[in-house]
Amino acid sequence: MPSLEVPGPMPADGGLDAAQRLTATLLGQELACVALCTEALAHGGREVGVGAVFTANVSFALPGFDWMGGAELLRSWSQGALLLAPEVLTGLRAALGSTAQESLPAWTSGLRTLPLRSPTLPPATHTNCYLLGHARLLVVDPGCVDLDEQQRLLAAIDGLHPERAAVVLTHRHRDHIAFARGLAERGLEVYAHGECARLIANEVNVTATLEDGEVLDGFEVIHTPGHARGHICLRQQQTGALLCGDLMASVGTVVINPPDGDMGDYLESLRRIRSLSAPVIFPAHGPPIEDVVSHIDATIAHRLSRELQILAAVAREGLSSFDVVERVYTDVPRHLWPLAEGSVRAHLAKLIDEGRVSFDGRRYRAIEVG
Ligand SMILES: [Zn+2]
Repeated sequence: MPSLEVPGPMPADGGLDAAQRLTATLLGQELACVALCTEALAHGGREVGVGAVFTANVSFALPGFDWMGGAELLRSWSQGALLLAPEVLTGLRAALGSTAQESLPAWTSGLRTLPLRSPTLPPATHTNCYLLGHARLLVVDPGCVDLDEQQRLLAAIDGLHPERAAVVLTHRHRDHIAFARGLAERGLEVYAHGECARLIANEVNVTATLEDGEVLDGFEVIHTPGHARGHICLRQQQTGALLCGDLMASVGTVVINPPDGDMGDYLESLRRIRSLSAPVIFPAHGPPIEDVVSHIDATIAHRLSRELQILAAVAREGLSSFDVVERVYTDVPRHLWPLAEGSVRAHLAKLIDEGRVSFDGRRYRAIEVG
């Protein structure tokens, strides 16, 4: 029977930093999967969090941590004494339910998450950097700025002993590409969609462009514009697991800000991803999304209900985009209104494209039909 070793609860004062240190330590080992409930820790709803590691018959000492058996961990979780991230829970249940090593979800093989502190939008504080593969490692979205975070990523790459490593960027935003140049200067190739490559040419030299349908080390490239031009998702061919960049997030909201963002494209990209029936989605911010279809449906429904509210507002009177925010985003804190205005303009641009709204350069009005 494969051994399943899980470190016990972290010290209450350890917080997110302890979780990150643990990830860094663990990434130096030969692991099938590393997963952490960083979100639970970040939100501080309870006093303890847990890091889990599934190893192939490997057990090793971790200073400051006790080992806990898988069954005991699951019991603590069911009693509400511990928090577990969804991927930890899935992995635990699968591993305990069978004596076969294969019972670990297939997508855990060669997929590691390293949440890195990044210049992203609250409430998110980190960008998940995914480390894919074995002999050649794909480093997806190295968006950290701080030196200690960059060192952590470098140590993680070194610890996995890849023969080669390459960077893949899902899109152009700073919290995804900030350390790409630093890695390129260390000799790593950089991959991105052609459109993204053109947009970041001044910042990062993309050495090879990716187009829709291309396959890179077992991952299919899916062009999914909407949040940003030249945005891509990566679909693990063997399992269908999907890395979605910023198409969706399990922490925070995806911002659609024109002209980079396009609401029509965004909804189209979501529908395309929905049709792929991914068993799990790994977003750039927050833990994995397992209830894939309902999450996508809820995202689409939320956007469309906003669109109806916006349409109703401009049907009553001619309004600027900021006027619309004041009337429609009453449930959103005022300091987020500038971001909301981007979304409003994205919705209005889509409605103009569809012939449902007109714009005279100052005000938007609904076009009467019938
Ligand atoms: Zn982004």
